[in-house]
Amino acid sequence: MRRFKRYLICVDNELNIVKNDNAFLSYLGMKELHNLSQIIPPPDFMQLQNCMFAIGYGKTNLTCFRVRSGNNGLDWFAANINKPENPEEPIQIELSDIQTMKSGSTDSYYDKMTGLYNKNTITDYAMNLMQSKDHSPFYFFLMDIDNFKSVNDTFGHMKGDEIITDVAHIAKEFVGDNGVVGRIGGDEFMLVLENVSTEHDLRIILKNIRKTVEEKYQDMGNNVCVTVSMGGALFPADAFDYESMFTLADKMLYLAKTKGRNRYVFYSPLIHGKMHFDKTVMTVSQSNMMNQEKSSMMIDLLDKLIVEKNFDTKQVLEQLLSVYVIDEVHMVDADGKTSYYGLQRNTAPDGSISFDHNVLETPIVGCDELKDKADSSPIAVFGFNLNRELMPHIADFMKMNDLRVMVIYHMKTGKRPGYIMFMNHTQSTCRLSLTDLTDITYVSHMIEISGQC
Ligand code: GH3
Ligand code: MG
Repeated sequence: MRRFKRYLICVDNELNIVKNDNAFLSYLGMKELHNLSQIIPPPDFMQLQNCMFAIGYGKTNLTCFRVRSGNNGLDWFAANINKPENPEEPIQIELSDIQTMKSGSTDSYYDKMTGLYNKNTITDYAMNLMQSKDHSPFYFFLMDIDNFKSVNDTFGHMKGDEIITDVAHIAKEFVGDNGVVGRIGGDEFMLVLENVSTEHDLRIILKNIRKTVEEKYQDMGNNVCVTVSMGGALFPADAFDYESMFTLADKMLYLAKTKGRNRYVFYSPLIHGKMHFDKTVMTVSQSNMMNQEKSSMMIDLLDKLIVEKNFDTKQVLEQLLSVYVIDEVHMVDADGKTSYYGLQRNTAPDGSISFDHNVLETPIVGCDELKDKADSSPIAVFGFNLNRELMPHIADFMKMNDLRVMVIYHMKTGKRPGYIMFMNHTQSTCRLSLTDLTDITYVSHMIEISGQC
């Protein structure tokens, strides 16, 4: 018994139908079909034309494209194209409805958990679109769930899976027939928006996705809310091939995270300059690779502190600034007006890192705004949502020092009680996730108890 639907049609070189298959017509819900362009969306149709053109007489080739089905949805079809040796004879196309394959073959196209296209399918799709002859412009976006590790840690992986699936469905709903969405990693998605003609329409789609996710999960409790960040650009105006487009979108996504998450950043040469070659702006992929480095660093520090007993605070701070991409750190006594140890990280245009030692005037040490905050939890984070009216001293301090984010750990015990102040400037490309903040708290606590300040 056949496990999935197959249809056989014959066409000429212009993809006009020469011989129809009645079962195919009834699947389409149509009485007549004259040309494949009636049922295949334009980008897929162009790709099919290119494929047909490239096949030699007497040769066969396999491709896939989407077909508009009777219920107005789009279904993927695999097509085995057979060009006879005689150019006068019609071309045979054997169509296999991928959706109805039950033998596990669909798994190779779809992501099981969300039902979206998987990484291979959407990557091939985007690449094919880029290689199509007419180079029709389209928007390419990457989307990533914010602080998802904390969602998993707080509510468990099952809830995490449910959220990934919900976010996938929200994205698919708003993208609709304007393009395709795929899941390319744990909490990462790719959006290829080939049927969006203006930036205004693009922004409406991205805004709807962002807002709908935010509103759906704003009341999760435990101080956790689920939001998404997106970054992207326009092909071929902003990048010429898949690799440079992916890197550029990844950098924009990274910027969206840096700017506070729950937003989209669309590449603009006027605003962002020639980001493609700027090694100081990281991509999300690079930062994910650093997660491995972060875990190794934490284990290494525990070993140094507990087993080897050779914990060197200055070395640890340099390591912390490099791995977590923090601009500056200062150590200040509880009543100190200047830092007794300060370190600034510099990144050269080629990506190499060096350190400078400097001193920070710290007029906020001793002020109630800092004490209240730092006393109530091990670390205080000042940044995007700082209330100027409630914390005028801290706001002035951050403005004066050109800071975007400041994380302060209060060392209450140990040899030299006081504060460790981590800072990122307004131009920083760093994104500190909630798990990064937890790591910074652990490292600060190690410094505190190491007796080495
Ligand atoms: P950021 O805002 O910077 O993106 O922070 P994040 O915590 O979301 O960091 P990141 O995107 O790097 O982490 C994604 C996490 O998603 C890591 C992994 O534990 C989790 N994850 C990956 N795949 C799955 C999955 O299939 N199910 C669940 N529940 N979690 C997953
Ligand atoms: Mg994430």
